[in-house]
Amino acid sequence: MSLEKILSKVEIAKEEAGRLKDEINVIAVSKVQPLARIKKVLEQGHRVFGENRVQESLEKWPKLINEYGKVQLHLVGALQTNKVKEAMKLFNVIHSIDREKLILKISSESQKIGFCPELFIQVNTGNENQKAGVKIDELDYILELAKVKHSLPIVGLMCLPPIHDSPLNHFKILYEIAKKHELPRVSMGMSNDFVDAIKLGSTDVRIGSAIFGQRG
Ligand SMILES: *Cc1c(COP(=O)(O)O)cnc(C)c1O
Repeated sequence: MSLEKILSKVEIAKEEAGRLKDEINVIAVSKVQPLARIKKVLEQGHRVFGENRVQESLEKWPKLINEYGKVQLHLVGALQTNKVKEAMKLFNVIHSIDREKLILKISSESQKIGFCPELFIQVNTGNENQKAGVKIDELDYILELAKVKHSLPIVGLMCLPPIHDSPLNHFKILYEIAKKHELPRVSMGMSNDFVDAIKLGSTDVRIGSAIFGQRG
């Protein structure tokens, strides 16, 4: 599919959901994609991109920004504490805050540099053992720590539903907990399910292969 086609599907989903006034971020997830494909999307005027690795992003985005101008860059993949400093300088938004140690590191770094990207807490809605994300019963504690104690700019919640489940239940759960905690943004929905995610309240869809083509 093309960017244009995706953006039009987003508009139709918004209309069907009665959400035409809502702003929905279409994050073009460009991890592992050839530069030519990314440049094509930049040339079409899109300026919101997502990546899942800090190192890979450092290798390509400063050059692309130099060539095409400012973009809004989202980190959607796991963040190691030893990459926090670099990630905070490059990314405008980080979707993968999932543990206490990371919160402490981001807090101390933001005091040093005087700013902090917008942050999402990643929630393990499927309660999967091997999966990143805060378990639902730990979320109160993590939010208290990040938002209240460390005053970090937590804007919403993110989830990556279990591969073998229908994502819809996870979207509903995530939306409900975000609402309960009065968090305005919900990061959910990817190439195969972004239309459903928008109907269930997503504000940030993360779309890779449907925009750029299959990853090599
Ligand atoms: C790769 C990735 C996406 C995009 O996946 P597609 O299925 O290609 O749309 C979204 N979110 C995260 C966290 C990812 O790692």
